[in-house]
Amino acid sequence: MITTDAQLLIVGAGPAGCHAATMAASIGMTSLLIDPASTPGGTLWRIGHLGNLPGFADGPSYARVLGSAVAGLDGSCSYVQGTVVQVEAAEDHVRALLADGTALVGDLLIAATGTHPAKAREIPWIASEQDFPTLTSMAPSDLGARTLVLGGDRPLGTWLRARPEADQKLTVCHTVGEEYKVDEVRHDPRIRLVPVERLSVVGDGPFKIRLVLADGAGEVTEEADSVVTNLGNVPSSIPGLVVGSDGFCPAAAQHPRVLTAGDLTARVGQRVATAAGAGAGAPLILQARFRQQAV
Ligand SMILES: Cc1cc2nc3c(=O)[nH]c(=O)nc-3n(C[C@H](O)[C@H](O)[C@H](O)COP(=O)(O)OP(=O)(O)OC[C@H]3O[C@@H](n4cnc5c(N)ncnc54)[C@H](O)[C@@H]3O)c2cc1C
Repeated sequence: MITTDAQLLIVGAGPAGCHAATMAASIGMTSLLIDPASTPGGTLWRIGHLGNLPGFADGPSYARVLGSAVAGLDGSCSYVQGTVVQVEAAEDHVRALLADGTALVGDLLIAATGTHPAKAREIPWIASEQDFPTLTSMAPSDLGARTLVLGGDRPLGTWLRARPEADQKLTVCHTVGEEYKVDEVRHDPRIRLVPVERLSVVGDGPFKIRLVLADGAGEVTEEADSVVTNLGNVPSSIPGLVVGSDGFCPAAAQHPRVLTAGDLTARVGQRVATAAGAGAGAPLILQARFRQQAV
């Protein structure tokens, strides 16, 4: 176990975590900023066009600025490369356990781990033990002649519009709840939409797919050469945080020594500026909370 002198543990180095670190330094709190990536920035690295943050045309240019800001916090904030697998809060301290077995201890903790593209095994209507690539990470040449797309989330339309040359037939299995999302691709001749109640995927190219159809027509079995996911993002919660029924971790529900910030807290309001603001506010809230307790 490593016991640190840092007052604040910040888990996740996206905009929320980076702004928490700079605010903590500005009010005299020492912190550890923990993230599996070698460089801060989080989801910013995936934003090719950023239209709502004046002065920044894309995510990576803002990620570089945040990286320099964090590097400049020398002495106040140390960057720890690692994945937190458990957080614990006690009456007088907090603990973050890393995947390599290291335990970091501090007074207070901010969790700002954002969201990640859902994996098939995280989705209740899909039975599969395998990990599949996301549709958005694939070029048309990566896909087989018969491609199954798991989920009807919006990036499907963007992917098709950006790749008019793609001539594969994509079978898109989605839930009835996603009907409104797939409307924009309904008339694309490359798309075959299949509303399902549930499905299972076994095998390894060709994959065997068993579908339970949503229209009550029963079960069918099909084959696919490749399978990709398009299931939207899910919160990157960590064991030990309080999780709501939607999988998000509301700030107000956590232990008094713990605060969540940024995309991890709720599905609504997921924006770079919102995450940055919530991250910057989090050390102030924790400081005020414990100053009041001391009085
Ligand atoms: C494709 C795409 C385009 C977008 N475009 C825009 C846009 O144009 N404008 C806009 O305002 N917003 C946009 N967003 C949303 C924006 O990216 C997010 O709102 C913002 O990045 C959230 O910041 P965050 O700090 O909460 O989380 P993130 O940026 O997701 O950062 C979370 C960090 O936590 C780390 N982490 C996760 N789990 C752990 C763990 N267990 N231990 C340690 N670290 C962990 C991750 O590695 C990551 O670095 C877009 C998002 C996507 C996916």
